[in-house]
Amino acid sequence: MKYFNKTPLPGRVSAEQRLNSFNPSEYKRTRNFIKGNVSKLSPYVTHGILSLAEVYDSLTTKYNLRSDHKFINELMWRQFFHHVWTKKGENIFSSLAEEPVPKSFYRSELPGDITRAKTGLAVIDQTIKGLYESGYIHNHARMWLAAYIVHFRKVYWKVGADWMYSLLVDGDLASNHLSWQWVAGTSRSSIYIFNAENVNKYGPEEFCVRGTSLDKSYSELSDLAYSQKIIRNELIKEEELIPFEPPQIESYPPIDLPDIRNANLDNFFLIHPWNIGFSDETSSGMRKVGIIFEEFHKKWPWSTIKWDFVLKSMEEACDDIFICRDASQIGKCLSTYNQHLEEIPRFPFDRVNMVFEKKIGVEPQQYCHSFSKYWRKIEKTIT
Ligand SMILES: Cc1cc2nc3c(=O)[nH]c(=O)nc-3n(C[C@H](O)[C@H](O)[C@H](O)COP(=O)(O)OP(=O)(O)OC[C@H]3O[C@@H](n4cnc5c(N)ncnc54)[C@H](O)[C@@H]3O)c2cc1C
Repeated sequence: MKYFNKTPLPGRVSAEQRLNSFNPSEYKRTRNFIKGNVSKLSPYVTHGILSLAEVYDSLTTKYNLRSDHKFINELMWRQFFHHVWTKKGENIFSSLAEEPVPKSFYRSELPGDITRAKTGLAVIDQTIKGLYESGYIHNHARMWLAAYIVHFRKVYWKVGADWMYSLLVDGDLASNHLSWQWVAGTSRSSIYIFNAENVNKYGPEEFCVRGTSLDKSYSELSDLAYSQKIIRNELIKEEELIPFEPPQIESYPPIDLPDIRNANLDNFFLIHPWNIGFSDETSSGMRKVGIIFEEFHKKWPWSTIKWDFVLKSMEEACDDIFICRDASQIGKCLSTYNQHLEEIPRFPFDRVNMVFEKKIGVEPQQYCHSFSKYWRKIEKTIT
């Protein structure tokens, strides 16, 4: 059987259907298995079609979950990564701690056999093909792919993180780049690696890498990770790779949008790609104006699948959608705050009246560098 994921359906109705059909009772036992019962809610959460607090409220009420339930714990990882981004800002895009091997050992671009899904290692090639086809990867497979790229092929983590971010429909700068740092060992004192046995236990049959260079003990692979050595592609040499077009990554939306400069807007509610589903009493009755910020995407381009998901979801939620080439042109309006807005040059925070999204528990004021510290502080405030 071919391994594949489906592209998530856009819009609030699809988000609610997914939320209502997810039962977390088997989550803890099965979540590490590629075919386990995970929620696939991440694209909706990333783009604010569902808020994290809404997912939390809905599932805790329906299933009477306690704050120490594994699913809640995973929601909190997302909130933690945003806590780190808020406190550390742009620093999350550089190593937060020293790399496990000198930085000069790492390549600064992805080898062609990886972008072509031709490494000869089924777990890696199937995962990349799945990412290209659907824009989604299971958490465990993200860890395998990131560990392979960083530790076994010695590509600098940020290179892999930028690539994966642009292709994931749920691509979120904090969750993605900080997860890569977690795997790379540049935000903590250890690294994440895996071997063929681990893939055999948690992956489907078609991921099997028994008898390959990954079929080694953890201690052998750890020695490799902490050395200058790499795992070579035993099947194909770089020069033998057939030409291949990976999915298009676009800095511009694939449809023509009117320019906000020519719009006559006053006192509107600004919908951006990270608050698409937001509504409350203050915004009800206001004109909902979707805005795509061109300058964000010059730095952070998206795959066609991600563009399609975001634009269709915005079409459903907004009265109009515009492209904005210079964020300083935005007039007085109301919106919801999201840290991604900080990546938009000249975003007029002084003119945009921000509503802040409800968090799960009370955010610690002090910076928590580890999830366990964050969790210890916030757990007692979760009701
Ligand atoms: C290398 C790497 C890159 C990642 N990039 C992203 C990314 O760009 N965007 C993203 O949302 N998540 C990212 N994650 C975290 C995690 O893989 C996804 O959130 C999860 O796989 C999404 O699937 P799901 O909704 O079925 O998750 P579920 O297991 O059902 O979890 C429910 C929700 O909890 C949150 N969550 C779960 N696990 C994590 C986690 N480890 N870290 C942060 N939040 C979590 C997500 O919002 C998710 O939707 C990354 C993880 C790794 C290892």
